[in-house]
Amino acid sequence: MKHLAPACFRAFACAAGSCPDSCCRAGWEIVPDEESLNLYETLEGAEGARIREGIAFQRSGAQQNAEALLRQNDSRVCVLLDEDGLCRVQKHFGHDALCKVCREYPRFHREFGNLTEHGLSLSCPTAYALATARAPAWEEWEDEAPVVPNELDPAAYLRLRRGRALALELLTRETLPLPARLGLLRRLAAALQGAPEKHIRHDYAVRLRRWISRPVKSHAQFSFPSSQFSSLARSFLGLEILSPAWRDALDRFAALAAAGRLPRDPLTPEDPEPYARWLWYELYKYWLDALDDGRLLARVDRSLVLLILGLAMDRTLPGEGPFLRRISREIEHCEENLDALLEQNADFSSFFRISSF
Ligand code: SF4
Repeated sequence: MKHLAPACFRAFACAAGSCPDSCCRAGWEIVPDEESLNLYETLEGAEGARIREGIAFQRSGAQQNAEALLRQNDSRVCVLLDEDGLCRVQKHFGHDALCKVCREYPRFHREFGNLTEHGLSLSCPTAYALATARAPAWEEWEDEAPVVPNELDPAAYLRLRRGRALALELLTRETLPLPARLGLLRRLAAALQGAPEKHIRHDYAVRLRRWISRPVKSHAQFSFPSSQFSSLARSFLGLEILSPAWRDALDRFAALAAAGRLPRDPLTPEDPEPYARWLWYELYKYWLDALDDGRLLARVDRSLVLLILGLAMDRTLPGEGPFLRRISREIEHCEENLDALLEQNADFSSFFRISSF
């Protein structure tokens, strides 16, 4: 099996008790796997009993078997999180005793035939800091793991991978201003959405490199009208909200936007690179999901909507961010939120402005 990962994947180490915003406080519903549940049944002593008490069994609708969930307190914090910021399972029974979800987070793995892609979710503060601190680089390796059979459409897969490589290359062009990179990315995604394979391999690769090498002034510039930020923030208030602090920040941002009190040029940060890198990781993770339904442009637009909201919130509420990490935490681990945004973002992408060449 071949493996591909951004370099930060293997560099990651959990900050555990020193984490500034532990995943155990995120309010996510954690379903322990069967193997871990069996192990927890055998744990001895008072700590073993305490861990079993931390698991609730819920039956919904016509479900025959009750589903196990890690219990949370009224503030949606996992009850197995100790006062010292450490997980009681890990502290008393070791890392391998963690259930699969907790053991793996923030890592993700996705198999595409003979290639497994690995990455980190940027909802974790340590992963976010690693990923946004320097330009992305790749690591590749091979092992003897067997190839898992799949039903991928090879042509569609290759086409999407080539398109993603162009998009990721574009985002690392630090000589281009961020609005120019975003404008080119949006144009590329719109073009790739319906383009035949041979155009992607030749035309768009060549065309994109030609676009990139133009003088900065002649590039497409991405913009979003300040007048739409209030309704954009309000649309996020309609999603499932996990943390009251996120609701409060969205409320305040929406009110400031409605009062016309956003900074001038909310999409031009002093240092654009952390934003470009966040988008790089976002597209690395979600671009190939278009294999399922062909909706590449909708996914790129969803990422752009998240980016402009995070960027504008950082500029409007300084010292409370980085909001892209908080957005990842609220959105990325909730399928309902991801799906809702995929449907809703057309409302906002119609306001994207890309100046012409
Ligand atoms: S959020 Fe990341 S660094 Fe913090 S406890 Fe969870 S995995 Fe560790």
